[in-house]
Amino acid sequence: MPESFDIVVMGSGLGGLVCATIFAKEGFNVLVLEKNNQYGGNLQTFVRDRCIFDTGVHYIGGLETGQNLYQYFHYLGIADRLRLKRMDVNGFDLVTFDNDSNEYPYAQGGENFVAQLSQYFPEEHEGIKRFHGKMKEICQSFPLYRLNAEDTYQWNEDILGLKVSDVINSCTSNPKLRAVLAGTNLLYAGMEDKTPFYVHALSINSYIESAWRCINGGGQIAKLLIREIRKHGGKVLKYKEVVKFQVEDGLLRAISTLDGSTYHATSFISNIDPKKTLDLIGNYPIRKSYVNHIRQAENTMSSFSLYIVFEPQRMPYLNKNYYHFKDEASVWGNIDYRTADWPAGYMVSMNAKSDNDQWADGMTVFTYMRYDEVKAWENSRNTVADTEYRGEGYERFKQEKTEIMLQELEKKFPGLREHIHATYVSTPLTYRDYIGSETGGMYGFVKDANHPLKNYLPPRTKIKNLLLTGQSVNMHGILGVTISAVLTCAELLGKEYLMGKINKANQIESLTTNDPLWQRLT
Ligand SMILES: Cc1cc2nc3c(=O)[nH]c(=O)nc-3n(C[C@H](O)[C@H](O)[C@H](O)COP(=O)(O)OP(=O)(O)OC[C@H]3O[C@@H](n4cnc5c(N)ncnc54)[C@H](O)[C@@H]3O)c2cc1C
Repeated sequence: MPESFDIVVMGSGLGGLVCATIFAKEGFNVLVLEKNNQYGGNLQTFVRDRCIFDTGVHYIGGLETGQNLYQYFHYLGIADRLRLKRMDVNGFDLVTFDNDSNEYPYAQGGENFVAQLSQYFPEEHEGIKRFHGKMKEICQSFPLYRLNAEDTYQWNEDILGLKVSDVINSCTSNPKLRAVLAGTNLLYAGMEDKTPFYVHALSINSYIESAWRCINGGGQIAKLLIREIRKHGGKVLKYKEVVKFQVEDGLLRAISTLDGSTYHATSFISNIDPKKTLDLIGNYPIRKSYVNHIRQAENTMSSFSLYIVFEPQRMPYLNKNYYHFKDEASVWGNIDYRTADWPAGYMVSMNAKSDNDQWADGMTVFTYMRYDEVKAWENSRNTVADTEYRGEGYERFKQEKTEIMLQELEKKFPGLREHIHATYVSTPLTYRDYIGSETGGMYGFVKDANHPLKNYLPPRTKIKNLLLTGQSVNMHGILGVTISAVLTCAELLGKEYLMGKINKANQIESLTTNDPLWQRLT
């Protein structure tokens, strides 16, 4: 007899896990199905030479008590259990350039952000202040970022159509400051002629409010959410790749997994790439305009990451990230790189550890990489069941790119090579296979200020009991995906009801009396 659930969530990325936690807390009979052997999607970590690496969570914002992500995580029952390290208050991100010894800081706290940056651009103080003010203002117009249940922003084209490059240019004419203000755009795969200002503001402002690293990696977010789901009676299963939908009379009746199991539910939530979700719907007739809307959506750029393991006690731990560029033009030009100039910029981050603050075990460097650079190997797969060797050519490609990246890194961190024990690499194919995104895109669908609604994807689909969640629905990032998941759940629970619960969340209520935290709090 096939098992039947109230809600089946397909995919255990952050969006899927947040949805499952909410419904489990609300008393629904919930099941999560994950194709991989590790839960969490981009929250996954991996270990090489005893060094823990994050794949998609270098840092998180908004986690100070009372801030927005803290309150969402508080409701979910995980905020006070996360092991976090606050990043450097006066410069959690540094934007740097070849041939310029200055390290331009992004500081925590609005006034501090303006003050620290103004030290490098004293004559631009008013412009920096104005830019920060505009970021705050636009965040305020997104109700769920201030934990409010109003529903007004989705269709406001004045907000959605404003470009970040235009806002920066309106605040300063100083070319270096323009580059610095845009310098963290790897966080949202920024495009000068497309990226809306709200994408920048929602991503960056939460870090300015407070910036944190996960001690020993972001995988703890997935583990804690799964613990909550199970505590509330939900089930979470791995090695369960969803391969087929059974749709009848406009309803998803059942889904099948690769191992031959079938699951029935009243409602289904897909955390799988929306294009892959369409593939699963198969030939069932749904409105062509809807299908085209998803099929034609532009995927965000993919990435190349270099994971460096250091020899013990050789490389000091840096409690900040670097966004480094060859020059000012590379800040926006990086994404349209010419292969001969790659990489025009990169981001460097280190893992926080519990036992040692002085030395770094390793460092992650990531930059853009187009899918077509690895297309030659696209028919090889690196799947759970079959870790197929992609071949000599691919290994050579990775080595060549590693060498180029190390040469670039040496410019900013002279002598770095001498500290290296080993290097590992991920490419767009890695993300394609582990996350299941079409071309290994980093952040879901591109948001385009020129066509604000073109890539807007609501959580409701044309199949009545199938909802979408994840980074292509609304926003990417830990905060963005959490809020997207709340919007998905609100479709069934009601936004006012759910936001009421989130705002009134009380950690003690969600604990059992024999939980150590309960004992600490009472
Ligand atoms: C390189 C990189 C760096 C990043 N850095 C940061 C950062 O520092 N801070 C930040 O806030 N955000 C960062 N992000 C973004 C953030 O990690 C993502 O926005 C977020 O984790 C995506 O969550 P999601 O819910 O969309 O799920 P995803 O992570 O996309 O997960 C989808 C899940 O579905 C599963 N799945 C797919 N197909 C199937 C199937 N057929 N059956 C069953 N399961 C399936 C996958 O295995 C996966 O577990 C980064 C992302 C990348 C790529």
